[in-house]
Amino acid sequence: MNDIILMKQGEIILKGQNKREFERKLISNIKRSFEPFGKFNIYSLQSTIYVEPIGNCDMESTLEVAQTIFGVLSVTRAAACKKDKDEILKIAEKYLEGELNNAKTFKVESKRADKRFPMSSIELSQFIGGELHNKYPHLKPDMYNPEFTVHIEVRDLAAYIHGPALAGAGGLPVGTGGKMITLLSGGIDSPVASYMMAKRGVQLIPVHFYSFPYTSVQAKEKVETLTKDLQKYCGRMRVIMIPFTHIQEEIRKKCPEGLLTVIMRRFMMRIAEQLANHHGCSALVTGDNLGQVASQTAEALSVSEECVKLPVFRPLIAFDKKEIVDIARKINTFDTSIQPFEDCCTVFTPQKPRTKPKLYEVLNAEVDLDIDGLVAEAIELRE
Ligand code: ATP
Ligand code: MG
Repeated sequence: MNDIILMKQGEIILKGQNKREFERKLISNIKRSFEPFGKFNIYSLQSTIYVEPIGNCDMESTLEVAQTIFGVLSVTRAAACKKDKDEILKIAEKYLEGELNNAKTFKVESKRADKRFPMSSIELSQFIGGELHNKYPHLKPDMYNPEFTVHIEVRDLAAYIHGPALAGAGGLPVGTGGKMITLLSGGIDSPVASYMMAKRGVQLIPVHFYSFPYTSVQAKEKVETLTKDLQKYCGRMRVIMIPFTHIQEEIRKKCPEGLLTVIMRRFMMRIAEQLANHHGCSALVTGDNLGQVASQTAEALSVSEECVKLPVFRPLIAFDKKEIVDIARKINTFDTSIQPFEDCCTVFTPQKPRTKPKLYEVLNAEVDLDIDGLVAEAIELRE
């Protein structure tokens, strides 16, 4: 029996001229993700990616990882067999034995992409359904709400037999949406924001600002762990660490306390933009969320981004905290994010941050700072 994984393409199928390019990127992402689990023959036919193991492969792990790859609508582990009704029956009985024994009701759903196959889809379903019912008399046919559905797909190269498909990760293949800088703190929100942008095909470069010795080594390690966890979805990433202490001390010395946070944010934006230009990135991404804290009012956000030209994308802007937490749990970043290591912003949080800072006040407050020098120094000292 030929064990195989079928990955149905998602939105890619709606692409016109660019479809081939999206498909090529998807296949190369899949190949890289499956490398640890063995050797595979991977190819695309009829909007489906076929993953055939060559020799011994860890199919369980492959199936699990298959569900984290963006650009895929659904994932199925299937048995491939000859396009012959008796062969299909034999394999279906064997391959789905456990499920057929456990279910009380069932139906067979066939799809005939290869029109040369001598039976219609309905005829094939009726034949296989009737024979399975004879073999497993406890199984009652139920066309509307079956406990278990046997799927048969007669395609170009072979017939494929499987149970219900698993949900894929959706989205578009990472790398098809260009590159962006993501501002990754150690919090709950920015890893989720990164995940959301990667889902739309963006290749991300994370940037983290740390304030040694006010923040600990563990705070940096936490961000490295988050980056590693996100790679499952986002592809290979290396985080750029920016020392931020000097900038924060300068701001604290020379600017009014109520404006500390927004001025600090502006420095993050300026540094991120320079890195973006250096790495050929088209935008910046943050985990900001409207109204969550003082620095996330519409006024504060617009002052924060006034100093950069690149667009700033904030995919979580209209999410509720609970919705963000649900995604953080799903992608397994939540437990790391809630580890209690101080972030550079927490350490320098003013008592009473201004919720509606005015641009002219902020520009006034910044006159005593050597902005270009501080930005250049931080970038020079990046790790
Ligand atoms: P998060 O949960 O992502 O930390 P938050 O709700 O705590 O977000 P803020 O601390 O105000 O919000 O940060 C807003 C956004 O600014 C973050 O989502 C992140 O994109 C960016 N940011 C904040 N601190 C840092 C940092 N130390 N390094 C990199 N980016 C940061
Ligand atoms: Mg934070």
